[in-house]
Amino acid sequence: MGHQENIANLDSCWTKEGRVPRIAIVGAGLSGIGAVIALRQAGYTDVTVYEKADRVGGTWRDNHYPGLSCDVPSYWYSYSFEPKSDWTHRFSYGPEILAYIDHVADKYDVLSAVKLNSPVTELTYLGPKWQLKAEGHDTEIFDFVISATGILHHPAYPDIPGLDTFKGAMFHTTRWDDSVSLEGKRVGIIGTGSTSAQIVGEITHKVGHMSVFQRTPHWVGPLPQKKYGAIWKTILRTFPVLHLFLAWFYKRLMLTTFAKATIGDVKEQQKIEQACLKMLKDQVPDLELRAKLTPDYKATCKRLIFCSDFYPAISRDNAELVTAGISAIEAEGVRTEDGRLHELDVLVLATGFKVSEFILPTKVYGENKIELSEQWDGAPRAHRAMTIPNFPNFWMLEGPTGPVGNLSLISITETQIAYMIQCLDKMKAEKAASIEVKQEVFESLNKEMAEAVTTTTWATGGCASWYIDKTGTPNLYPWHPSRFYKEMEQADFSEYLLTD
Ligand code: NAP
Repeated sequence: MGHQENIANLDSCWTKEGRVPRIAIVGAGLSGIGAVIALRQAGYTDVTVYEKADRVGGTWRDNHYPGLSCDVPSYWYSYSFEPKSDWTHRFSYGPEILAYIDHVADKYDVLSAVKLNSPVTELTYLGPKWQLKAEGHDTEIFDFVISATGILHHPAYPDIPGLDTFKGAMFHTTRWDDSVSLEGKRVGIIGTGSTSAQIVGEITHKVGHMSVFQRTPHWVGPLPQKKYGAIWKTILRTFPVLHLFLAWFYKRLMLTTFAKATIGDVKEQQKIEQACLKMLKDQVPDLELRAKLTPDYKATCKRLIFCSDFYPAISRDNAELVTAGISAIEAEGVRTEDGRLHELDVLVLATGFKVSEFILPTKVYGENKIELSEQWDGAPRAHRAMTIPNFPNFWMLEGPTGPVGNLSLISITETQIAYMIQCLDKMKAEKAASIEVKQEVFESLNKEMAEAVTTTTWATGGCASWYIDKTGTPNLYPWHPSRFYKEMEQADFSEYLLTD
C-alpha cells in the first residue's frame, strides 16, 4: 500500500474492515525476529521490520569483541520454537548465536519482512494509526508500532578529559575495530563489567601488556563452561523433548537461586557471594591483588558477572589492575591520579551503555503530540515493560521495568509477544480501534513497583549500577520473575482502554 492511499485511509480501522492490521517493528534483533514469526503464526501477516543496520542480529551483530559469549545457558537462550541440538557449548559464543539468529531468520522467511539500512527517525500517533518516517523510505502509515530495539545498544563514552587526544587505536567494546591487531601490543581497558571480564579473559595472554582500569571491583561468579560432544548432540537430536527439559531446568535454576538473591533473599545472596569469594581465593593467590578485586558491596547489587577466565588473566605477569582513578587521557596513554602515565598502543572503552534510551533518539509523538523522551524525562517506564499511557497501539519488547539481569531475554520477549497477541485478538473480537494502558493503572502499578524495589539487593546492596536511573531507583521488575511470567500468561483487559 503506498503513502497516499495510506493517508487517505487514516480513519479506517482494521478490526471493522476485517483486514489484518499493518504492523511496523523497529529493530531486527532477537525480539523483532521473534515477533515477526509469532505474529505471522497468529494470523497477523502484514508485518514490516525497519532495521537501522545492514543485517539482522541486534546485539549479537553489533558486538563482536574477542571473548564475546552469553552467560545464560544455550538451551535456555534459544527460541522455544527453534531448539538447537548442536550447540557446541553450554554457554554459547557470540558468532554461534549470530549464526543461530541468521538461521532462524532464514528458515522462517523473516528477511522478506525486513527493510535493512532503514533507521526510523520519527513516529507520530495520528489516532488510531501511526505515521512512520524512516531514512530512505516514503512516510508510511501503520495500525501498530512495536519497538524491539533492545536496551543496551547506545554506547556510553566516559567523560574523561583528553579522550580525543589519544594517538593510538581507541574504540568502545560495541564498536570493536577488528582491523587493529593486539598481538604484542600495550592494551588498556577502562571498566570491569561483564564485557570487560570476557575481553580481558580472552586477550591478555596474546597482548604484550594489559592494563585494566578498575573504578569499582565487580562480583564475579564461576561460569561452568562445557563443550558438548557428538554423543550428547545425537541424544538431543534423537529425543527432542530433552530440549524442553533443559530449558526448564536452567530457567528453574536461575529462578531459584540468582533471581531470589537479587530481590533480597539473604540466604541465596550470601551463597552467591561465597561462591564468588571462593573463586577469587582459588584463582588469585596474590593477597594484594585479591584485596583490590574484592567488592565492598553486596553481590548481585550490580549485574553479576559469570566468567571463569578474568581472574587468571588479571593474575598474569603481563597484566596490571590499575585502581588509581583516571585523571586524563593523553596522546601516549592514560594518566592516573597518582601522576603515573600508563603508556598504551590500544585503548578499549568497556564503559557500558546509555540504558535509558530504548527506542530513543527516534522522535516518538503520542496523543496530543506528547513526545516520549519528554514524558520519560530520563526515567523510562512502561506498563508490564510494554505499554505507555498516551501512546496507544504502541508496544515495547524488553521495555523499561522488565525482569532483566541474568535471565534469558529470549524467554521474556517471547512471553511479551504472546501477551501482545492476546491483546490483538481481543481488539479483533471487540472491533476496537485502539488499545492503551489506563493512566491510573499505570501509575498505581508503578508506585507499587517503586516501593517494592527499595528492598531489593539492587537498591540495598550499597552499589551504583546501570540499573539505577535518574530517580535514584533501580528501573527493574522488583518481584520474583516467576510472578512476571505468571502475570503475563493471561492479559487483564481491565487495565486497558479499548476504544472504537
Ligand atoms: P557495565 O556493566 O555498565 O560496566 C561498565 C564498566 O565501566 C564499569 O566497570 C564501570 O565502573 C566502568 N566505567 C564507566 N564509566 C567509567 C569512567 N568514566 N571511568 C572509569 N570507569 C568507568 O557495562 P558492560 O560490561 O558493557 O555490561 C553491560 C551489560 O551488558 C551487563 O551488565 C549485561 O547486562 C550485558 N552483558 C551481558 C553479557 C552476557 O554474557 N550475557 C556479556 C556482556 C555484557 P563502575 O562499576 O565503577 O561504574
